Amino acid sequence: METIYSEKHKLRDAKTELFGGKLVQPHERPSRAEFVIDRVRKTDLGPVSDPDEFGMDPIFAIHEDHFVEFLKTAPARWKEAGFEGEAIPTTWVARRMSGIRPNFIEGQLGYYALAGETSLTDGTWEAAYASAQVALTGAERIRAGARGVFSLCRPPGHHATADMYGGYCFLNNAAICAQHFVDNGARRVAILDVDFHHGNGTQDIFYDRDDVLFISLHGDPLEAFPYHLGHASETGEGAGAGFNLNFPMPPGTSFDVWRAALAKALDCIADYNPDFLIISLGVDTFETDPISFFKLKSDDFTTLGADIAAANLPTQFIMEGGYDVDEIGVNAVNVLQGFDAVVAS
Ligand SMILES: [Zn+2]
Repeated sequence: METIYSEKHKLRDAKTELFGGKLVQPHERPSRAEFVIDRVRKTDLGPVSDPDEFGMDPIFAIHEDHFVEFLKTAPARWKEAGFEGEAIPTTWVARRMSGIRPNFIEGQLGYYALAGETSLTDGTWEAAYASAQVALTGAERIRAGARGVFSLCRPPGHHATADMYGGYCFLNNAAICAQHFVDNGARRVAILDVDFHHGNGTQDIFYDRDDVLFISLHGDPLEAFPYHLGHASETGEGAGAGFNLNFPMPPGTSFDVWRAALAKALDCIADYNPDFLIISLGVDTFETDPISFFKLKSDDFTTLGADIAAANLPTQFIMEGGYDVDEIGVNAVNVLQGFDAVVAS
């Protein structure tokens, strides 16, 4: 399987994350992608290619222009306002408030952030833009006939909505690719999100549409980030009714339980009969992930890749989360090798 990768992910290098009441070294850090690309090369998974350039149009097909402008300019505006730390919001559009966008940068951070852990820093926009190009290049490979491709995106994307960032995500790479497929003639696209966390951003973007099916397997939002979305009762609305499916699971969930949910998800995808399948690939379901509570083991990721391959669809893997940094390379590449082994057989 070919991997698409850009060194520009390193430009996203925040020094702080608000975690446990402290400012700590971010869990989402450049070494994550380094471990994955090292593993890709070590295992001879396949060629590694630079992304092509698709510009802003596919990004604007998903994201609001005022939100993009905010992401580009916020770190400089924050510094100009005299703040010394990295830009972190402190206020939000809470229940029964106006929702009118403030002018001052501090207020705008709370307007555009859906969570407070993620610092906005110099280089974040450039890295997020490059990550979207890595995603789009993978989508083009699939459109050109590849059976599988790996877009090694960093920063990740599945928490980002059309106009909100957070959960380490800024641009929704999976959503941008799904829209790119649709805009180039696909009738139906399925997105299967296997990251530990609910893909709230992707759900929100496609919630009222029937041309993109969204299915997420994740930690129950009663117990886990993003807390305020991802319940089983959320099934889509309007034309999208029935085209959003959530499988929340409790702390301590083991692979056999998780795999049974995966089988149901893959049955739904088969019924939907999409032209393309996008996997939001997070490996923070791993048993020693520091911010998650599922119990998958390294070998289970190989099985997961094989199960996805058995769906027999052109499949784009897009990197999302995974924070046990030492093991992220092994676990991510196990998925891809499990997929390739079935395709080759
Ligand atoms: Zn995650």
